Amino acid sequence: MRFVDSASVMVEAGKGGRGCLSFRREKYIPDGGPDGGDGGDGGSIYFRGQEGLNTLSEFRYNRLYRAKNGLPGEGSDRRGKSAIDMYVEVPLGTKIIDLSTDEVIGEITLHKQDLLVAKGGFHGLGNARFKSSINRAPRQTSPGTPGEVREIGLELNVMADVGLLGMPNAGKSSLIRQISGARPKVADYPFTTLHPNLGVVKAGNNHFVMADIPGLLEKASEGVGLGFEFLKHLSRAKALLHVIDILPADGSDPASNYLTIEAELKKFDDELFEKPRLLAINKIDLIQEDKRDKIIKDFLKTVKYKGNAFNISALNGMGCKSLVFGLYGLIEEKDEEE
Ligand code: GDP
Ligand code: MG
Repeated sequence: MRFVDSASVMVEAGKGGRGCLSFRREKYIPDGGPDGGDGGDGGSIYFRGQEGLNTLSEFRYNRLYRAKNGLPGEGSDRRGKSAIDMYVEVPLGTKIIDLSTDEVIGEITLHKQDLLVAKGGFHGLGNARFKSSINRAPRQTSPGTPGEVREIGLELNVMADVGLLGMPNAGKSSLIRQISGARPKVADYPFTTLHPNLGVVKAGNNHFVMADIPGLLEKASEGVGLGFEFLKHLSRAKALLHVIDILPADGSDPASNYLTIEAELKKFDDELFEKPRLLAINKIDLIQEDKRDKIIKDFLKTVKYKGNAFNISALNGMGCKSLVFGLYGLIEEKDEEE
């Protein structure tokens, strides 16, 4: 399974401005020559690499990119203004595809790298251009040419910054839903959404990507089922979050659930096991307030957990905000190391 984000957009470059038909009319000059100016060029559209972006979710809202037209020429040999080009920012690693041919136009891999996707129209010529020895008063002009119009596909392999660990039903999907901003009315758009177990989480002005790993079951480290594929994805994550159901409906023991998952992880990959990690103790809303402290303390003691634990409810959002900032802190530390 790959985490692929994709989107399709229309790009419409601007038309060239038409040339002007005009003759000089001045006092005392009875028969002025042609002075119609050229139009301006239409704006082109470029995609531009922008570091820090990590999904194509922006393109869900914005599906049409239209650059401005060049302005028409004017009399007195005045040239119409050319339209400014349009730059559309995309995450690094975005593949750009022409959907009418399925041809890959290019891939944006570098910050500030530009790729032309729709060329603006060429300007029209004013009648002054057509003056010659045999035609001193041309009435000819040319319109600008149309801008390129294309349907473009965008494709991005998304990297998870944070991987979620936990038993089935621990509340991983609920947590992503609770803290991720990337779940608008996806179904209303012809848009292949992010993998449903992938979310973009906002921490202040920053974002990170969180991925759920469904199917991390006991046999995962032996490559059974989905677990193995997902674990491979995780090996590039910067941090892990282990989600614990503090009151499992199946009556299982949270502490032994925790230890099972951790043992799996270690068996699969030592490097993964060593990754910075936080613990989310979920579903605390199910426990009476006056009993929470003791139950959580006992749990932490049993599993000998020494790191940072956050008590949360993925259902009602309790504690989720500080968890998000805790996770972002880990990612930042990791980024600084690198
Ligand atoms: P996942 O398998 O780890 O992705 O778990 P889900 O997010 O699908 O959640 C499993 C079940 O637990 C669902 O019925 C959720 O509504 C419920 N659940 C998740 N988080 C909470 C929570 O904080 N409080 C309560 N009461 N229920 C929760
Ligand atoms: Mg799930």
